[in-house]
Amino acid sequence: MRRLYEPQAYDRDVGSYWQTTATPPRWPALKQSRAAKILIIGGGYTGLNCALELAEQGIDPHSIVVLEACQPGWGASGRNGGFCCTGGTKLPVDKLIARFGEDETRRFFKQQTASIESVRENLSRYHISADTHSNGETQLAHRESEMAGLHAEKQQMKDLFSLDCRITEKPGLSSQGLASPEFHGALTTPLGFALNPMKYLSGLAQAATGIGIAAYGGTPALSIRRAGNNWQTDTPGGHITADNLVIATNGYSSEDVPDWLSGRLLPVLSNILLTRPLTELELNSQGWTSHQMCSDTRKLLHYFRLMPPAEGEAGPRMLFGMRSGTSATPASMAMMHRRIRADFDRFFPAWRGVETPSSGPVWSA
Ligand SMILES: Cc1cc2nc3c(=O)[nH]c(=O)nc-3n(C[C@H](O)[C@H](O)[C@H](O)COP(=O)(O)OP(=O)(O)OC[C@H]3O[C@@H](n4cnc5c(N)ncnc54)[C@H](O)[C@@H]3O)c2cc1C
Repeated sequence: MRRLYEPQAYDRDVGSYWQTTATPPRWPALKQSRAAKILIIGGGYTGLNCALELAEQGIDPHSIVVLEACQPGWGASGRNGGFCCTGGTKLPVDKLIARFGEDETRRFFKQQTASIESVRENLSRYHISADTHSNGETQLAHRESEMAGLHAEKQQMKDLFSLDCRITEKPGLSSQGLASPEFHGALTTPLGFALNPMKYLSGLAQAATGIGIAAYGGTPALSIRRAGNNWQTDTPGGHITADNLVIATNGYSSEDVPDWLSGRLLPVLSNILLTRPLTELELNSQGWTSHQMCSDTRKLLHYFRLMPPAEGEAGPRMLFGMRSGTSATPASMAMMHRRIRADFDRFFPAWRGVETPSSGPVWSA
């Protein structure tokens, strides 16, 4: 497997906070060659949803195989921010319309709302309890001048999608528990919710194997090639011959699995830090008590949410994420950490002294 970045970017031992909150099933390694109707490579949301959806549509679950190089949820699906909301682009609606037309923009928006509903349905259908919270999403203006754009977006949401969004001007932020010197007002879109990503992932993984889908962990696909009308995939424990193949490897893809993927993907790093549980006094001294999931209006945005207190913890933790770079050297990681911590301190000055024991980079394609 030939990969773009430094080996430490693919370390198996992630040590993320989410792993302490849920235990996804451990899949056995493939020990002998076998056949499948459909082989799915990658045990994250994409691979698992694909497997479950195919089974829902009538494909025999026993003929579906999922391969995972590590264990389910090792990739971005087990370590993301847990924001289930719109936000597939930072382009404002008027620019989308100018570039793609009104029909396509409507379709794009519908697709995003359908994705939110699909997660909601999965939670219910597979009985997954994933610490959901937040009534839609709040975008916070990082400059006063951004408020005009938020007002325009509110109107566009109404005109195009009949959606009632809410503007909060700067003086109203404190009363909503969103006090920070960084922000100048907000737009709340009543779509989506936040969840514990690892609990969601674990639920999907359990649902998949529960209906008979075969899943193998610690089993990287090392190469893929055509074999007559089939696909042949080699792994350390044997090969799999499949009628159909789905590659769901995200930012962890290899340049040579298959070789035509080379040069087609550019993964970038993302970084999230998480505070220790905050006390009531700390929450009040910052004036940030809302559990609303938030992002700011920057193009390379920050996203943050006060999570519901975990079992056995006295207070909520703040999750704070931002985009990072394209290098995983120790020096770049250290710089990334300094940058995210500096931004966190500027957004929440009352929490400058609060420890953030969990912090780590993740790749996303
Ligand atoms: C820090 C961060 C925060 C994010 N926050 C959010 C958020 O709040 N909301 C949101 O909607 N999205 C968020 N995302 C994006 C979201 O997490 C991803 O889009 C999603 O998890 C992708 O799922 P996936 O299944 O495609 O990929 P992944 O979950 O990354 O799974 C890919 C899997 O493929 C496996 N794999 C790779 N190569 C092979 C191989 N050769 N053989 C076998 N297996 C292989 C890997 O081990 C990995 O487990 C975030 C991403 C990051 C990185």
